[in-house]
Amino acid sequence: MNLYIDFGGTHFRYQLNDSKIKTLNSDNIDLKKFLDEMIQKHSDISYIGISFAGIVQNGKIISSPNTNTQNFAVKKYIKETYNIPLAIDNDLNCAALAEHNALQVSSLAVFYIGTGFGSAFIDNNRLIKGANNKSGEIGHIPFKKSPFKCGCGREDCLELYVSGNAIENWCDYFNIESKYRRLDLLESFDDYKAKIIIENFYHGLEYAFHSSLNLFDFNNLVLGGSVGKNENIKSFLEEQFTKSAFQRESLNITLSQLQEGSLQGSKLLYTKN
Ligand SMILES: [Zn+2]
Repeated sequence: MNLYIDFGGTHFRYQLNDSKIKTLNSDNIDLKKFLDEMIQKHSDISYIGISFAGIVQNGKIISSPNTNTQNFAVKKYIKETYNIPLAIDNDLNCAALAEHNALQVSSLAVFYIGTGFGSAFIDNNRLIKGANNKSGEIGHIPFKKSPFKCGCGREDCLELYVSGNAIENWCDYFNIESKYRRLDLLESFDDYKAKIIIENFYHGLEYAFHSSLNLFDFNNLVLGGSVGKNENIKSFLEEQFTKSAFQRESLNITLSQLQEGSLQGSKLLYTKN
């Protein structure tokens, strides 16, 4: 039996083979304890795949801005204690594997804009991982100084302008009423502070898009997340593509069709990694 886990900043989801997905609150999860209990309860677990919202390197969880799990060599622990193979990667790499599997294209970028701005890239059917598995973190490239601190420690990350959290933080900063705190509502709100938030959001998105395109030269882009899975953002980026630096054949921009993309991706880690 296979155990699949998606350990997000808010929700912890898990699934045994194709059974019903169970959802827990991430705040209450001690990953080591959870795995110990699951393996004791289900002695036939023969593979574990984990999607994790944080920095993962060589089977080890390094850190995470939103969960309290860090410095845990989970792959080594499970192998040495139970002799069960385990594969783990960050949630956006997992989402990219799932989108890649669904679309069957060789070149792909994934922008998931929800609480944060997550991104991952596939070239020639392989994830671009870098030397430390930290490649493609477009949300954390320096954009411009902000009054806020990013989960990574910097104060100028793109994610501080282009994300659900950014919209919340900037609305707080400008004292904008909670009923306007959504991208489309801010757009229709006739207020100069709302206009600043929107302008920064789209300027940051434009910056993210052109930077990514020049770095990775993809011809498919999937938009996901509560903020990013949006026809207006798709149209905006299609327009941006016509202004890209070099003439490129075409770019197919789609909204994600997957349910639980990161969890789906955890099922592909063993074969694809
Ligand atoms: Zn950052």
